[in-house]
Amino acid sequence: MNDCIFCKIVNGEAKSWKVYEDEHAHAFLDINPVNEFHTLVIPKQHYENIFDITENDLLNVMSVVKKVVTLYNEKLGIKHVQIINSSGSEAQQDVFHIHFHIVPRYNGDNQDIKWITHKEWHEKFNDLLNKLK
Ligand code: 5GP
Ligand code: ZN
Repeated sequence: MNDCIFCKIVNGEAKSWKVYEDEHAHAFLDINPVNEFHTLVIPKQHYENIFDITENDLLNVMSVVKKVVTLYNEKLGIKHVQIINSSGSEAQQDVFHIHFHIVPRYNGDNQDIKWITHKEWHEKFNDLLNKLK
């Protein structure tokens, strides 16, 4: 995947600010940070998103997410984070090499994730679940 910016970061062909790496995964600062230490964790192997990554590599990536969060907790005292993955363009994925955002959060940071919720859909939950059968 020559054109993939995250593959280039893994290979050292593009600049990044590395936080941590192991055999399978790489963590680096997001170039457009939402807060200090906004971090991306990616597998070294190229996968587009949650749909094609192997279960093993997903576990490898999540293991590094846990390591980085622990590092931030111990070194920086960070106690509040959002872990975000967008898979698919309609789910607002912009870079098509799977990544998990680690976004440290604190009161007064002026950031906000807002969902529009639909409690009125309770009445069709059973029909929705039937679609899985
Ligand atoms: P998405 O919207 O796909 O979940 O997030 C993609 C993220 O990748 C964005 O937050 C964006 O700032 C980050 N990003 C895009 N290009 C680069 C880059 O070249 N270097 C780094 N460090 N982050 C990048
Ligand atoms: Zn890639």
